[in-house]
Amino acid sequence: MITGKNYIGEELSDNGDIKFRTFNPRENKETSPTFFEASKEEVNLAVEKASQAFELYKNKTNSEVAKFLEAIASALEANGEALKAIYREESGLPEGRSNGEFARTTGQLRAFAEMLKEGSWVEAIISNPEGKPDIRRMQVPYGPVAVFGASNFPFAFSTAGGDTASALASGSPVVVKSHPLHAGTGELVSQAIIQAAKKTGMPDGVFSNLNSKGIEVGEWLVKHPKIKAVGFTGSYKAGTALSKLAAARPEPIPVFAEMGSVNPVVALPSSLEEKGEEWAEQYAGSITAGCGQFCTNPGLILGIESPSLDHFIENLGENLANIAPDVMLSPGIQGQYETSKSGVLSQEGYNPVGKYVGEIQPNFGRQEVISVTGETFLENTNFHKEVFGPFSVIVKCKNKEQLNEVLQQLEGQLTGTVLNSDQKELQDYKGVIDSLTATVGRIIYNSVPTGVEVCAAMTHGGPFPATSNAKFTSVGLTAVQRWVRPISYQDWPDELLPDALKDKNPLGILRNINGKYTTDSL
Ligand code: NAP
Repeated sequence: MITGKNYIGEELSDNGDIKFRTFNPRENKETSPTFFEASKEEVNLAVEKASQAFELYKNKTNSEVAKFLEAIASALEANGEALKAIYREESGLPEGRSNGEFARTTGQLRAFAEMLKEGSWVEAIISNPEGKPDIRRMQVPYGPVAVFGASNFPFAFSTAGGDTASALASGSPVVVKSHPLHAGTGELVSQAIIQAAKKTGMPDGVFSNLNSKGIEVGEWLVKHPKIKAVGFTGSYKAGTALSKLAAARPEPIPVFAEMGSVNPVVALPSSLEEKGEEWAEQYAGSITAGCGQFCTNPGLILGIESPSLDHFIENLGENLANIAPDVMLSPGIQGQYETSKSGVLSQEGYNPVGKYVGEIQPNFGRQEVISVTGETFLENTNFHKEVFGPFSVIVKCKNKEQLNEVLQQLEGQLTGTVLNSDQKELQDYKGVIDSLTATVGRIIYNSVPTGVEVCAAMTHGGPFPATSNAKFTSVGLTAVQRWVRPISYQDWPDELLPDALKDKNPLGILRNINGKYTTDSL
């Protein structure tokens, strides 16, 4: 049942004066529950509880925390149908997507549990050569984490999403600032987390969920001295505002913000000669997937002027015009889509490629693609901007050199893609591929950028402004590294060392001992 209240640790609370409702964009009407925005006192209490919980939670064993994460996944599954129903109601996202994102969310909780059970994630290093001090290093959590739910992934990047799962795995309590578009989904997910925490004996305060429909709750959280790191997915504007706020604190803290990306796709000539029609169909699907509301949406496609590029453009336009538009996450996001698209379309020097021209229902996103020459693109940075929704720009470059120049002008991106049908061509375009690689967190060969695998090797990050820190990922198992810091023990008695660093290696984990990776004891 949805109460509309905040979870301050295990307690439900509704002391705030501000109330709000969520919105069903498909039916174009408000949903029925009333939500209570967290008051400043409730924010403070949630952080205070998190800070106290940290003292106990950081000493839980890997296997105890793994049981907690597994219990969250099971509690979510036990209420799966209700969760998916409210997810669809609040986001307008279709059934298939609710099933896929739900499975991804429980799957990543269990993947972090497996990582903990294996144990080597703490990166134990022991240096004790003859005649030198004995130094042993490992990663430890540094305290309560504030997680901002993302509008476009109510399950996988929100309340029990990748930021929360990785922070809890690291040994850090989490205070979630729920996204106002899916506060009901957030509350039901929170119920599952609290249930799992109680069942597995986790301290009260290991998790809290705060409702809000304005920016104050997030600001109070980021400024609170006992919050030690922040995870965020959303707009450039909000991500940079939060980063500045965190940097201005007496004790600055890291903000791991995933912001915008246009995800450039370089279609090398061979790919369009050999498989242009196939790529046109796949890319029309990728541009409109999730109504373009993916951070990996292909917003920029680059090629070299040729009849096959023209043929690809024509095909892409036709495919696009025939795809039925879908509803966007909210009237606000649909409005922002139209505003930012109009900003690009008010520029001079582009050609229409294709769009859906029929009637559309309220809150639906009308897909559209345009093309510009390389010269126009280089001169006018308005064509570089992310338009969050089903919109893309194709850049027709004069030659390889201009294509390279365009890539070198781009800002940091989450992904870059190369389409190619001829291995030799990859050598000819090595400079172009190097320029693309230098700009992105993930480089993809012959595919579409939409679709992010949750696995140990994934980098879902990239140079600024794609994220605030290119060293880290927000998807995959290494996402845990955002919430830990290294500590070195020098000449410390064996019995007082954490198990990961003890001579006998009681956890049986892989360690680097004097330069050699081994599971042996010392
Ligand atoms: P957003 O505006 O960035 O907001 C995300 C969260 O941050 C919300 O909970 C919001 O609070 C909060 N927030 C915003 N500005 C803040 C500030 N100055 N200080 C503290 N907190 C702040 O993103 P959104 O609501 O998801 O959608 C708006 C736009 O974000 C989209 O149109 C799109 O351009 C972009 N977006 C990008 C991605 C991506 O993957 N890169 C994903 C989602 C959205 P309130 O809503 O409560 O005010």
